[in-house]
Amino acid sequence: MQSEAALLVKELNESFRTGKTKSYEWRVSQLKSIEKMVVEREKDICEALYKDLSKPEFEAFVSEIAMVKSSCKEALKELKHWMKPEKAKTSMETYPSSAEIVSEPLGAVLVISTWNYPFSLSVKPVIGAITAGNATVLKPSEIAPATSSLLSKLFEEYLDRSAVRVVEGDVPQTTALLEQKWDKIFYTGSPRVGRIIMTAAAKHLTPVVLELGGKCPAVIDSDVDLQVTARRIVAGKWQANNGQACISVDYIITTKDFAPKLIDALRKGIEECFGTDPMESKDISRIVSSNHFSRLQSLMDEYKVYNKIVVGGQRNQKELKIAPTIFLDVPGDSQLMQEEIFGPLLPIITVENVKDSIDLINSKPKPLAAYLFTNNDKLKNYFVQSVSSGGMAINDTVLHVCIHLLLMTHIY
Ligand code: NAD
Repeated sequence: MQSEAALLVKELNESFRTGKTKSYEWRVSQLKSIEKMVVEREKDICEALYKDLSKPEFEAFVSEIAMVKSSCKEALKELKHWMKPEKAKTSMETYPSSAEIVSEPLGAVLVISTWNYPFSLSVKPVIGAITAGNATVLKPSEIAPATSSLLSKLFEEYLDRSAVRVVEGDVPQTTALLEQKWDKIFYTGSPRVGRIIMTAAAKHLTPVVLELGGKCPAVIDSDVDLQVTARRIVAGKWQANNGQACISVDYIITTKDFAPKLIDALRKGIEECFGTDPMESKDISRIVSSNHFSRLQSLMDEYKVYNKIVVGGQRNQKELKIAPTIFLDVPGDSQLMQEEIFGPLLPIITVENVKDSIDLINSKPKPLAAYLFTNNDKLKNYFVQSVSSGGMAINDTVLHVCIHLLLMTHIY
């Protein structure tokens, strides 16, 4: 007997073979339904995000709702142009002839998403898959159960179930899906699971997109507007899901002389945003689960760093809350500097000269994002030329992901 996952893929492939998902009209109808779903069910989406992460409503709107809306808008605006065959130059050898590149959908694709932006990081790759004319299965993260269950309900209600489906579940359900032959797998999550996904995909020679994590540095030069810099770091670290974001600042590098001024400015910036007691603030997300709380707690309590806290440090296990916490001069071999933090902890490493920061960054695996704050144009150019990372922003954090052309998650 065929498994549920095998039957689902069979059904989706049959639907794909009818050619319906390929048509411009079908793609537009599904994209418009997603737009409608986001507008009509905004309140439900915000409630689910609050249940999963205590995500503040404003943050939920900006980083989940608005992101999905603008992806839909962009896809609807560009779809005709993306579907249009592209003329290719011919050569003397084929004269007289014409040639063109025709984009075509791949077939049935699987999107496996994560818990930190559980709505936008689920729906945006699905928008890409639909835009490209594929049949799609979304497997949301079980670690954000309220959003996962809402996505399952909303997709049934708003989308064409013969070609777009949600499968909820944990490792066994994902493993069953991964045993099937897909035409593409789009995965967002940790490198550890990324290896499992790639191994499963290799069996069927299925191409994969892996959206993984990493440690994202921010280099702070002394030639900056200190208040603006501190506010932008606070926004990109703690106002981005309390640091549970793949491109949030993972650690800071600055000079020994400048570190005390920077710490003071960050302390003020945190107070401006979250009040004198951030543990009571309604404007900051909580830690997603008790497992992640314990993981962060063990990073904080490691004997090499527990006495290096200069701001914050408060935590409440029952409410899964950890205050914005800054460490000064943690050793390079501490766990804080060895693994992706993915939470509200922010170590500051000091160097003699700001240029030394580049060797430090380059001694580690390539970051997903790298940030530099400076008014020095020579340093800007040197940083861009010397640091290789997935993305980069100068004098800001995180915002580069809002530029569509820099970050397209379409599946072709
Ligand atoms: P997670 O635990 O939710 O796992 C992600 C997905 O993998 C889930 O759907 C889960 O069900 C599935 N999964 C987990 N274990 C599995 C297994 N053994 N076999 C098959 N599937 C399995 O999320 P996570 O891994 O904790 O995500 C956090 C990571 O994601 C961080 O490293 C973060 O940087 C990264 N991330 C990257 C991006 C990006 O765009 N690059 C965005 C967000 C998060």
